[in-house]
Amino acid sequence: MNPELNQQLAIFVALIVFGAVLVSGGIIVGMFVARNRHKTLHAEEVRYQRLLEMVGGLSDWTQGFAGDVHQYGSRLKHLLNQVDNSEEVRQASSELNDQGILGELLQANELLRERLHTAEESLAEKAQEVQDYLSQALTDPLTQLPNRRAFEDEFARRFAQWQRYSTPLSLVIIDVDHFKKINDQHGHLAGDQILKAMARRLKKVVRESDMLVRYGGEEFAVVMPCSNVTDAGLAALRLCQTIAQQKEDSAGHSLEVTISCGAAQAVGGDTMIALIQRADQALYAAKSYGRNCAFYHDGVQAKHVGSAEPVLAEELRGGIPTRFNQVCDNLRNRLIEVTEP
Ligand code: GH3
Ligand code: MG
Ligand code: MG
Repeated sequence: MNPELNQQLAIFVALIVFGAVLVSGGIIVGMFVARNRHKTLHAEEVRYQRLLEMVGGLSDWTQGFAGDVHQYGSRLKHLLNQVDNSEEVRQASSELNDQGILGELLQANELLRERLHTAEESLAEKAQEVQDYLSQALTDPLTQLPNRRAFEDEFARRFAQWQRYSTPLSLVIIDVDHFKKINDQHGHLAGDQILKAMARRLKKVVRESDMLVRYGGEEFAVVMPCSNVTDAGLAALRLCQTIAQQKEDSAGHSLEVTISCGAAQAVGGDTMIALIQRADQALYAAKSYGRNCAFYHDGVQAKHVGSAEPVLAEELRGGIPTRFNQVCDNLRNRLIEVTEP
């Protein structure tokens, strides 16, 4: 038989077998996802994320593979149509035709293509289900902002980026002032509406690249990649001013609601916990100062974001820390002494 036809047939048959395995794999993964969908949240998001990637990959694969099957099917048909090219090919194909093999192969090819198409559709559906599940697990249902889990993921990711590339990273923690009183006076539902409205307003002020999250009850946080404490402190002040300028409307009542903010920047051999603690200390200082204001942590102490621009403590600004200045001066003098004739 013609070696080219032979080779095409071998590839074609191998593809059919491979395709059948792929379809079965897709169906098994689909069933696995469907069965696990209703299990409780103990199957962590990471597992679902991996599953989503796997389903997505499989889906791409089936798509590509369906294309290959189609291509080989067409190639085979093309070869069979070239019967007048050589006596050998005509003879080989007519032998296969006589035995009905070619017809069966082409039919199998068509069937496989249909199955791949169905598997691909079902995989896309499952991938969407996993995607929806994931975004629900990471979204706060009241404000529709990313929740604490989403914060932890993003903060860890940005922190690792800061450690690796030294890109500045800042964090602002926001807390609504006297929120308990608002709840007590106007009811819990009114409090909920205020939190929702506040989330919308805060969202308008933060940059696209920043991540605003609902950190806890009446607390929000902003992860600010590529921002130093100057940017973060000034942004915190802007957030306070924005909220203080607008009255929150709750069930016909116009309420004056304020927030306090604490900002901090990642420095030196920082840890995530230490950075969160410094932002918290700055927030606590803002509360103690009288609320409706922003404080930042300069790496050594919390300071009011007032008339002067927020900056890190001198010893944390890079270059030679001030405490080494005396040592450097002494060394310089000693060098002059020993080198001068
Ligand atoms: P401070 O200015 O010191 O922050 O005072 P505060 O009253 O805001 O702080 P406190 O921690 O005493 O009270 C927070 C209140 O926020 C108590 C809690 O019931 C309320 N809260 C937390 N989550 C929600 C929520 O989802 N909806 C409503 N309506 N209230 C909430
Ligand atoms: Mg609070
Ligand atoms: Mg509060």
